[in-house]
Amino acid sequence: MSTLHDLVNPATGQRLRTVASASAEQTDEAIARARQSFLEWREVSPADRARLLRRFAEAVDAHVEELAGLEVANSGHTIGNARWEAGNVRDVLAYYSATPERLFGRQIPVPGGVDVTFKEPLGVIGVIVPWNFPMPIAGWGFAPALAAGNTVVLKPAELTPLTAMRLGELALEAGLPEGVLTVVPGKGSVVGQRFVDNPQVRKICFTGSTEVGKQIMVGAAEQVKRITLELGGKSANIIFDDADLQRAAASAPYGVFDNAGQDCCARSRILVQRGVFDRFMELFEPAVKAVRVLDPAEESAEMGPLISAAHRERVSGYLDDTVEVAFRGSAPQGEGFWMPPTVVLPRDERDRVWREEIFGPVVAVLPFEDEADAVAKANDSDYGLSGSIWTRDVGRALRVARAVESGNLSVNSHSSVRYWTPFGGYKQSGLGRELGPDAPDAFTETKNVFIATDT
Ligand code: NAP
Ligand code: MG
Repeated sequence: MSTLHDLVNPATGQRLRTVASASAEQTDEAIARARQSFLEWREVSPADRARLLRRFAEAVDAHVEELAGLEVANSGHTIGNARWEAGNVRDVLAYYSATPERLFGRQIPVPGGVDVTFKEPLGVIGVIVPWNFPMPIAGWGFAPALAAGNTVVLKPAELTPLTAMRLGELALEAGLPEGVLTVVPGKGSVVGQRFVDNPQVRKICFTGSTEVGKQIMVGAAEQVKRITLELGGKSANIIFDDADLQRAAASAPYGVFDNAGQDCCARSRILVQRGVFDRFMELFEPAVKAVRVLDPAEESAEMGPLISAAHRERVSGYLDDTVEVAFRGSAPQGEGFWMPPTVVLPRDERDRVWREEIFGPVVAVLPFEDEADAVAKANDSDYGLSGSIWTRDVGRALRVARAVESGNLSVNSHSSVRYWTPFGGYKQSGLGRELGPDAPDAFTETKNVFIATDT
């Protein structure tokens, strides 16, 4: 039996709508249907599978406004971001629609015969999505998985299921057979746990907290189930004294406060070379105060509310009396889970605000002495997801980029997730990579076949 669950608009605190959460039995039924559909989907010819994925991309494209509107209401994302996110699902589908016709194996020279490898689909893939980027993270999992010939069961976060549910409908409207992409809304402890425990699910593609990621890794060990994990981060934005300080300061707020800081790639630790620290802070303050924290449905909004009252409570909990606040931006008053962008000055690298992932609009700033000190401080973290390096010295940019233990670095910018390039974390930020040209490989097994010719 399913239970009912209320969704709340984070910008107003008002109830938005009620959705049904699937039970463990309903989850098992969805997995069984996905297993059945897999037997047919893997036999669909490569050109037809490619065509269906392109049609799915077109269906998403035709519904960008509708999907974006759902995300604004359900997740509090700014309308500008939400449109980009729906467009990202379209683009990722279009990109991986090229996969079915190019899923090449190899022919390997061996004595006595011919040896070929095949990239075989795994079967049913369980994609588990967090609430912070409901659309893109869903697409990064399901698009390459479907392209490689798998079927997918997808669990959106309990707080933010609406866009995933709509994407599931659009897949059917585009002509994907029933059971190829099944969205199963519900609780992590029920639906997500069944994905881990049900042996018909052959791989889990999980994005979320490091804590739950570790539990999934333990659970998956029981069946040697394949996993990809995209977990937390505490990324460094390293600003050297030769950088274009104006640009570094003007862009730093957007490197951390985008999506109200609820971004695993948020550059939530700023490291500034000591000689330019004061000047940087002078430039950074007006930039933070200029961030437009508004009703996310407004075209000019740059930051919206936090996802829930409980999450705002958790984030504010970091700003106790021991924490020195340098300055704050603004936020609307009244209902909704609002919080202004906040810049804090930790006493040293042991402070909680410097070490822990806050996942809200809070950034900590510390000085460093030289290149070696910058790298040491950046690497002094259990995480390693992203980061930025600001300098005009190309040699230094490359040395530091090679030395920082992190999966995604950008120089003189804060770009990180581009679907053409691999994305994932070092250390406790994750396991495996998503996106880029190799993503479909993570949804296949390599099968080797030797054919004797000397009989
Ligand atoms: P979370 O609590 O780990 O939840 C993520 C997803 O896992 C949700 O769908 C959740 O379901 C589900 N889940 C919870 N317990 C589960 C279990 N025992 N078995 C299977 N699934 C389970 O994370 P969150 O609170 O949604 O998101 C915030 C965290 O995600 C942050 O720490 C952030 O850094 C991380 N994150 C990382 C990336 C990345 O790419 N590296 C991207 C986004 C977010 P419910 O909705 O029912 O809780
Ligand atoms: Mg959670």
